[in-house]
Amino acid sequence: MRERPETSQIVIDGIASVVDGQDLKGIVKYNETIDEAKDVNYNWELMGLEESVDLNKYLVKRIKQLYGLTIDHLCQEAFATAISKGWHDEERETGTMLALIHSEVSEALEADRKGDEENFAEELADICIRVFDLSGAKDIDLQTAILKKMEFNKSRPHKHGGKLY
Ligand SMILES: [Mg+2]
Repeated sequence: MRERPETSQIVIDGIASVVDGQDLKGIVKYNETIDEAKDVNYNWELMGLEESVDLNKYLVKRIKQLYGLTIDHLCQEAFATAISKGWHDEERETGTMLALIHSEVSEALEADRKGDEENFAEELADICIRVFDLSGAKDIDLQTAILKKMEFNKSRPHKHGGKLY
């Protein structure tokens, strides 16, 4: 027999473990195994349908959690956090916010000069957070702007028509 891939074995072991757990729960709840259960007491089709509806609800909920982290969401959250810390108590000039983005770029440069990879990543995050905050403050649809510009960049010529860098 062909050797079973490790991933498949993990699935089989995982399912067996869940089946055993469900059997145990069934015995505790109904005081009988599924084999002992009388058909007259259960509407198997309806129970199956209800379980499949629940399964879909669980999957949709989880997918929303996993993929709900959009740039739009990050802009709203960065702006909300900045508000909660008092950074928008007075109206902030765009120039000031852009200068602060510059300051994070400089901090990233310094981190890179020191070979501090962890701090470099943190400063790149700071750059993004400040851009998200600015976008949130100015109600800019950054996500759409990024997707639009990335699509445009794909259509640009090699080195954007002969630029050296
Ligand atoms: Mg920083």
